[in-house]
Amino acid sequence: MAIAIVGRPNVGKSSLFNRLVEQRQSLVWNQAGVTRDRVVGRWQLSQSSEKYELWDMAGWGYGKSLRSIPKEWLNEIKLFIFVVDGSVPLTALDRDCFSYIRALNKPIILVANKSDKKSFGELSLEVSDLGVSKFISLSIEQKRGIGELEEEVALKMEKLHIGKKPVKKRVKKIDRRVLILGRPNVGKSSLINRIAGTRISVVSEISGTTRDLVNCQRKIGSQTWQFVDSAGVRKKSKIYGRNDAVEIFSAKKALMELKQSDFCILLSEVHPKVQLPTQDKKIFRMIRESLIPSVIAVNKWDQMKANRKERSYQRALTADLGEFVYTPTLLISAKTGYHVKALLESLRKMERRIRKISTPKLNQWLTSVQKERQPRIAKKGSKKGKLRTQTQYLKYTYMVQTGERPMSFHIFCNSPHLIPRDEKRYLENRFRLEFKLEGIPLQFTYRGKSSGKRFSKVKKSR
Ligand code: GDP
Ligand code: GDP
Repeated sequence: MAIAIVGRPNVGKSSLFNRLVEQRQSLVWNQAGVTRDRVVGRWQLSQSSEKYELWDMAGWGYGKSLRSIPKEWLNEIKLFIFVVDGSVPLTALDRDCFSYIRALNKPIILVANKSDKKSFGELSLEVSDLGVSKFISLSIEQKRGIGELEEEVALKMEKLHIGKKPVKKRVKKIDRRVLILGRPNVGKSSLINRIAGTRISVVSEISGTTRDLVNCQRKIGSQTWQFVDSAGVRKKSKIYGRNDAVEIFSAKKALMELKQSDFCILLSEVHPKVQLPTQDKKIFRMIRESLIPSVIAVNKWDQMKANRKERSYQRALTADLGEFVYTPTLLISAKTGYHVKALLESLRKMERRIRKISTPKLNQWLTSVQKERQPRIAKKGSKKGKLRTQTQYLKYTYMVQTGERPMSFHIFCNSPHLIPRDEKRYLENRFRLEFKLEGIPLQFTYRGKSSGKRFSKVKKSR
């Protein structure tokens, strides 16, 4: 009884195999003239007591003279894990291999690996052609998605009456991770202390004081959320001191942390000039690029409130945000606790709003937004002697959601490559308002009406 990992070369099969098995066993079943056989290992699912034999089937199920899996092996295989490289378009080899495996009539779990290189929406675009409704987004490199894969395997095996019901481990599960990013001394660890309700870290007056990575867990509704003070930014600031912190702001490290988070709080501090400093704007741009839902919190409001009206400060702050005007902003005080509850509530609100919107609802909106105004011109008509071309108008025909984190959508349209930028922005802003998605990054992909091919590049809306 075995689970077999299949797929074309270089998609990450052996990386996955090595990650899952306890001990790599030697090659088995040497057949004359075969350069590579299956590699066998034992896989203990972490959420259940089940142990399965796992086979790395590199070299089987694809190729010019397709190497069919021997019958004796097929009798043993109960489930296939089909791996594709989600960061690149599917290749002919992927398709060949997949149709071969599918024809074997055994359960298959589709895995899109290398998700560290692509967002969920882009991954679904890459794998959508295989016609499988569900896939697991995996990054072996960043250890993401393994838990989900294990759950799926446990479920599939249970359906086959092979495995027992997955037993939940008694480790405290973290449902959501919130990263707090900000310059040194804006009050990140004070905020974590405030959220935790107890003093869990040393808050020092001296900027860049050595401290451990600060984090806390807190119940939000029925879920456990973890709040983490970014180590990436802190470490650099420790080394170089406060003033240089931005120039050497370790974008790469912070990005890595962002990718592992569900939400981000950009923490800034009050300033007589109101506007966010350039450094904070830089950090904020990076947060938006990573498509992580975020909130801007301006700390130390207790210092400012005697001489500024909250509303006018808030208005000036949002006016300065430009295209990111839809990001929730709050004036808080970690010291007194002012608006800290509201900050948590705004995260919770976002959590509730990140959802799957039904296709009929999306299309109702698409129709109504087109009725509201004259259709935009995609291409003006021209007259050259007898040659006449007609003016082309943009027409959106259909909309569908392809992912939830980030919320991703495909809009089908007659001329996707001719949609002006401001038109895209208009649609996306209207959409955000209609479905109350403030602070939530959206990813819109515009596609041609019928061919199923992608015409325009993925457009990120931040
Ligand atoms: P196989 O031929 O399918 O067994 O693929 P390998 O496991 O040998 O992996 C092929 C390449 O993809 C190697 O260079 C891996 O380091 C790389 N790789 C595997 N998993 C990931 C991942 O999750 N992210 C990225 N970026 N690269 C990966
Ligand atoms: P971090 O470097 O971003 O983690 O900042 P800390 O939490 O260590 O705070 C830096 C300094 O700002 C400390 O002296 C805190 O007491 C002070 N501080 C933090 N939050 C507030 C606040 O809401 N109001 C005031 N007045 N001071 C604060």
